[in-house]
Amino acid sequence: MSGIDDLPVRDELRGKSPYGAPQLDVPVRLNTNENPYPLPEPLVERIAERVRAAARDLNRYPDRDAVELRTRLARYLTDTSGHRVGLANVWAANGSNEVLQQLLQTFGGPGRTAIGFEPSYSMHALISRGTGTGWISGPRNDDFTIDLAAAEKAIAEHRPDVVFVTTPNNPTGNAVPGDTVLALYEAAQAAKPSMVVVDEAYVEFSHGDSLLPLIEGRPHLVVSRTMSKAFGAAGLRLGYLAAHPAVVDAVQLVRLPYHLSAVTQATALAALEHTDTLLKYVDQLKAERDRLVRELLALGYEVTASDANFVQFGRFADARTAWRQILDRGVLVRDNGVPGWLRVTAGTPEENDAFLDAVRDVKKEQS
Ligand code: PMP
Repeated sequence: MSGIDDLPVRDELRGKSPYGAPQLDVPVRLNTNENPYPLPEPLVERIAERVRAAARDLNRYPDRDAVELRTRLARYLTDTSGHRVGLANVWAANGSNEVLQQLLQTFGGPGRTAIGFEPSYSMHALISRGTGTGWISGPRNDDFTIDLAAAEKAIAEHRPDVVFVTTPNNPTGNAVPGDTVLALYEAAQAAKPSMVVVDEAYVEFSHGDSLLPLIEGRPHLVVSRTMSKAFGAAGLRLGYLAAHPAVVDAVQLVRLPYHLSAVTQATALAALEHTDTLLKYVDQLKAERDRLVRELLALGYEVTASDANFVQFGRFADARTAWRQILDRGVLVRDNGVPGWLRVTAGTPEENDAFLDAVRDVKKEQS
């Protein structure tokens, strides 16, 4: 008995590795699309207050339906999208990864399939595998936009049960136009009908608007969001979705009872009280993201247009070597396995300067 291979694990998990970016101890870490700003002190105080109150009731299970939190999230979505959503439209879980897992447990599963247009967020494929859902890798154009004709063809041919659209897309950074999402939705309805999951983890950083209003009259469209990025709360683990109330009812068939702890709910509510302050950091990060794009272009790199808090840059004859050269200069970026390209998360101005110094150096070394 020595390792995983000796255990009777499911066939589709054999020989696979868990998801994970390297967590290396280097001075500048720009590899996981985190928000670089720690939570402001008044918010830390408010979290402590709310968690203290919650602690007094920890002998009891938390609010299973997270009613106060979902109501508050619905208000945030309504205020920022101009589209009215209420408690019945919103569901929350431990990170949007859990939201996606619940969606796949509900609408995917053994004998069913999901499609995504790659390169995209690799967890869509991994959570599909974990839930026994077959994965179909759909195409993209060379410039990383979705090839609509090819995507429609793939949907018609494979008739997937779940269609993932990531906008802004990770790791490429580009947003998907609303018209494209609508066309994919129509194709998915004609083929099956299937659920279309619009993963908007980075939408607060976008030049454009959320596609949330599209849920109106489209009961098979789900918009997935997170507090990990714009709210600077990756450690909190709070993701949520907005959809037709029937979708919210459906995911409750698979959610574990009391999945959102009282501590999580209290912390998220405190963070939402400070929405305005937290969203100011988003403006700063957008400006820094745009600066990274400008300076990378000026240095002679190619850049994919970004609507996110990160930038895909290249092209490298060998992205792995370039990743290592940048790391040797104390800056950790991400090699997502897209041939010729790397991804850098927008950090503080100082971190971004350190990154730009490193890539300037690497460029010199390579030329
Ligand atoms: N969707 C996308 C596109 C992401 O990039 C990420 C995080 N890397 C997530 C979802 C998951 O985020 P979380 O579980 O922290 O909400």
